[in-house]
Amino acid sequence: MKKIISLILITLLMFSFVSCKDNNEISEYKNDRYIYGMVPMPEGYATIMKFDIIEKTAVPACPDPLCDHGRSCPVSGITDFSATKNCIYIKRGDVSTGTRLYVYDLRTNKIELLMKGTQFSSVEVGPTNFVYFTMGEMEYNDAGEAVKENFHLYRRNEITGELKRLTTEPLAGFADLIDYNNDTFVWILRGKQGWQASDSNFQNIRPYEFPKEEFTFDSETIYTGGIRHELYRINNITGEKNLIFKDALSFRYCNVRPISGGTLHIPSINAGTEEKPHYISEHKIIYTDLYDTSITHTWEIPEDISVPNIYREGKNSKQLNDYHGFDCQQYEKDEKGNLYRLHGIFVVNPTTKEAFPIIYEGSRRLIRSAE
Ligand SMILES: [Zn+2]
Repeated sequence: MKKIISLILITLLMFSFVSCKDNNEISEYKNDRYIYGMVPMPEGYATIMKFDIIEKTAVPACPDPLCDHGRSCPVSGITDFSATKNCIYIKRGDVSTGTRLYVYDLRTNKIELLMKGTQFSSVEVGPTNFVYFTMGEMEYNDAGEAVKENFHLYRRNEITGELKRLTTEPLAGFADLIDYNNDTFVWILRGKQGWQASDSNFQNIRPYEFPKEEFTFDSETIYTGGIRHELYRINNITGEKNLIFKDALSFRYCNVRPISGGTLHIPSINAGTEEKPHYISEHKIIYTDLYDTSITHTWEIPEDISVPNIYREGKNSKQLNDYHGFDCQQYEKDEKGNLYRLHGIFVVNPTTKEAFPIIYEGSRRLIRSAE
């Protein structure tokens, strides 16, 4: 009994500690349910959509409850975005008109203009709450004519909002943060061959080689009557090369840092192998652990859903923890025989084995009238 009482006491103390802390500071935003994706709206502009993996619904990721999410919506008419665990960085405009970078702080639910430049790289997540990005800026001569574009690397602390320029001399172009480990940051720098390493302040820049892993992976694309992919695992110690899968219509590496030709590829998901050249597909999605190839899982895609491919799209991979989302269309017939198309994402989770579509509101369009 004494033990139980002391346990209750400890629990109460823990709770009071947690709530004290919450009152004194804005806690870190913890996204455990939303996948963010940029989707084209039927009206012709792009909107950031928030896909809820719990409720399985999708609405514009807009902080304004009174907004109609039309052209003037703060998350519509955008050209690109990057989502981190604390913020969404939103780009408007392009290199011809100039680009404005906005930050949507998910903890405070506010959007503000961060910077204006000619162009911005994607916003890369570093250690703790730091993000990194490059901004292009036009340099003008005394006559007011544009002379050249200069690029500088910036670091932002997402909790304090502190923004720091890390470069003194301009760069030749974007700096992409590829990996980091303690005080070694690995970059791809425009105009420089191979990987470059720096310290956390982007000083002491030197060429870098990733240490060789036990396994690396290699894919081949076969072009005979449509595209098919094969994936091989290469044992760097014995030189052995094993076929992991073939006949995949598309595939993506999961849970990897964005290293191209690098070292950290872990499992992969591949879509295949049956294809019907029709609006309704009968595809399967197969998960394979690339190290332990006995761990696989197959999901059947429902008949009314079409997943054109599962390739990773640039930096915004529509992924949240173990949930992987792929663009999909859903087809629906009414009682008169009219055919409608809806848009959304098809989500799979290799850990929980779940698979489900999330269709977004307002995407339903008539594509074929009944005779
Ligand atoms: Zn809106």
